Amino acid sequence: MNSSNQHKYLPAFLPAMNAEETSWAIILFGKKLLMRIAEDKLYIPEVKEVADILKEDKKMEYIGSYDGHDCYCKRLNEVTELPENLELVDLMEITKRSGDAGLFILAGTANHILHWYSMNQYCGCCGHETEDKKDERAKICPKCGNITYPRISPAVITAVFQEDKILLAHNRNFRKGLYSLIAGYVEPGETLEQCVVREIREEVGINVKNIQYFSSQTWPFPESLMMAFTAEYESGEIKVDENEITDAAWYQADSLPEIPSTDSIAGKMIRWYRERLRTINKQ
Ligand SMILES: [Zn+2]
Repeated sequence: MNSSNQHKYLPAFLPAMNAEETSWAIILFGKKLLMRIAEDKLYIPEVKEVADILKEDKKMEYIGSYDGHDCYCKRLNEVTELPENLELVDLMEITKRSGDAGLFILAGTANHILHWYSMNQYCGCCGHETEDKKDERAKICPKCGNITYPRISPAVITAVFQEDKILLAHNRNFRKGLYSLIAGYVEPGETLEQCVVREIREEVGINVKNIQYFSSQTWPFPESLMMAFTAEYESGEIKVDENEITDAAWYQADSLPEIPSTDSIAGKMIRWYRERLRTINKQ
C-alpha cells in the first residue's frame, strides 16, 4: 500500500553524494514550501536557485537524499519578492500539484528537523546555549554535557470494523463534513495495543478486539510517528466524547462521507478498506 514515491527519500545525517551542483533546497515559510514552476509542473528548486532568497544567512540543515539529490532545508522568517518561476505552495497541496507524494514527506521531514532545532537552542538541564553534535543529529550542551536527540512522538490510528462496516469519526478540529479514523498519542507505560483500546474507548465509547498491525507513516507536523492498526468491534454503543470527537458512525464502503487525502495514512487505510470490500462484493 505504500507509494513507491515515498521510498525515493532516504533520511540521513551526512551528505551522501556531495554533489553540490544538484543539491535541492527545501525552503519552508510557515506552512508553505518554496517550489519552482516549469510548464505548470512543480519541482523542488536547487540550492543555487535560492541563493538570493537566503541572503546573508546561508546555513542549511542536511536531511538526506531524494532520488539522487542531496537535500538541505531551512526555514525563512520573511520572504521578500520571489522570482517569477518560484512559488510558495501550501504543504497540503504539494502532492496534488506535483504528482509526487514523496515530496510531501520530504517537506514534512524538513519541518520536523527545523522545528526540533528551533526548540533546542538551549539546554533543558542548565539553560546554557547548545551546540550541534558533530557525529550525529543531536544537540550537546558544552557546559553540562546533556545531549538531546530529535523527538519523535508515537501515535496510533485504528480502522475499526463491524462486519463490513467501518467506524469513522468527525474531530472537532476537522473541517465540516470530513470524517476519519480514531487516533491518539501513546502515553508513558502503554503498549501500542493498550493505546488503541484506550483511545477508542475514550473517544467513542466502544470496546475492540483482534488488534492487528497494518503499517506506519511519519507525520512530522511537528513530530509524530503514526502506527496504524485494524481492530474488530467487540462491545458497547457509540458514545462520542464531545471533547475531541463530535460525531461517529458505522459506514458502508459504498456510502462513505468525505475522507482525508492519501497523504495521510488514514486516507490510505480507508481507501484500502473500500477497495477490499469492492473486490469481495464482485466475487
Ligand atoms: Zn546544560
